[in-house]
Amino acid sequence: MADVTNEAFEGATAVLIAGGGPTGLTLACELAVRGIPVRVLDQRGGPHRESRGKGLNADSLEVFGRLGVEERLSAIGARGLVLRKYFDGAHINDTPTDAGLLIGQWQVEEVLRERLAGLGVRVEYEAGLAGFVQDETGVKARLADGRSIRAAYLAGCDGGHSTTRELLGIPFEGHTEEKPTMVVGDVRAPGLSRDHWHQWYTSDGGGIMLCPMPGTDTFQLQASPETDGRGEPLPPTQEGFQRLFDRHAGMEGIRLTEATWLSDWRVNVRRAARMRDGRVFLAGDAAHVHPIAGGLGMNTGIRDAAALGRTLAAALADPVAAAEPGGALDAYEAERLPAAEALLADTTERHRRVLAAVREPGRGTEAGLD
Ligand SMILES: Cc1cc2nc3c(=O)[nH]c(=O)nc-3n(C[C@H](O)[C@H](O)[C@H](O)COP(=O)(O)OP(=O)(O)OC[C@H]3O[C@@H](n4cnc5c(N)ncnc54)[C@H](O)[C@@H]3O)c2cc1C
Repeated sequence: MADVTNEAFEGATAVLIAGGGPTGLTLACELAVRGIPVRVLDQRGGPHRESRGKGLNADSLEVFGRLGVEERLSAIGARGLVLRKYFDGAHINDTPTDAGLLIGQWQVEEVLRERLAGLGVRVEYEAGLAGFVQDETGVKARLADGRSIRAAYLAGCDGGHSTTRELLGIPFEGHTEEKPTMVVGDVRAPGLSRDHWHQWYTSDGGGIMLCPMPGTDTFQLQASPETDGRGEPLPPTQEGFQRLFDRHAGMEGIRLTEATWLSDWRVNVRRAARMRDGRVFLAGDAAHVHPIAGGLGMNTGIRDAAALGRTLAAALADPVAAAEPGGALDAYEAERLPAAEALLADTTERHRRVLAAVREPGRGTEAGLD
């Protein structure tokens, strides 16, 4: 392994990770279990509690099995989710699914942070990456608060608006739809059964879905947005969630309360033109964003992190061999860039299938899993 305690890396680390979401945390675990010094920076003030990416597929669970967290995640999450479909207010059918482990993204992040803490690594919050320079021996990163950190490698796991990608000047190729097509959030809905993922669709093409999140008393809400008099989508509010619920579900007596996360979502299909520049890498949403149909965003970031962990471990073990053409440093992009390209095409097609399916009574998000 490269000598990270020599003068060049004094007070520093082998791998600096910008971003403590699922991608950055998985990468940090991959490195820490191999005994590689790592630091994780996040610009947030602390952990969030948003359900966001709510399913771990078999590939992610295989990675997490190796990292020693699969059992803990399985104890929190749930399997065998049944989709309950309604159309114009009438219950049409129930569809069992086998889409992996249902679990909130914040819970996945919490379990990974616990694992990291056991390995002696703590996420450093209020530590936004603001700039960096790199040379042949490493990267010197500058934080928003003026501190600087030296590392052998920098991993930009800093999400769709990646500072790392922007600082590298790597184009984020693709398109973004102008208007949000969905509002999302976490709410309580006392009295609503927690045995199903409820999906209400209406013949006007709108709908609302409420998915019970395991280990909590909340549901993840996804709905077509309210619009103003000119047809422009309105931002999400708790009152708006209730109006959407009343319109599409029409279940009297159910009140949506305590919205702890409110956001909107628009179709975004983009990928970074490159995933590596010298000693700096991109992974997860920093490298690709795409429709959520099929639930592949977080899962693909976890695969990126596993591949990048292998690459960086090899590069630190034998820097000379790793830097040769076709060596370990090239291997990451060679594997993950085509995967990102395929992911964009795949999820765009899954999204199209879901949009068509929800107009047919009895069909729903399972169309994105086929
Ligand atoms: C409604 C919804 C449903 C979804 N459903 C699924 C699903 O079912 N399955 C699935 O796999 N995915 C799903 N996703 C997608 C998933 O949430 C993302 O793909 C996932 O969050 C990407 O993880 P990440 O770690 O790459 O990026 P992020 O989660 O965005 O994490 C990036 C981190 O970097 C930090 N950061 C940003 N800038 C800086 C900086 N300059 N310095 C330091 N830190 C910085 C941020 O604070 C953040 O903590 C869903 C998303 C939404 C919105």
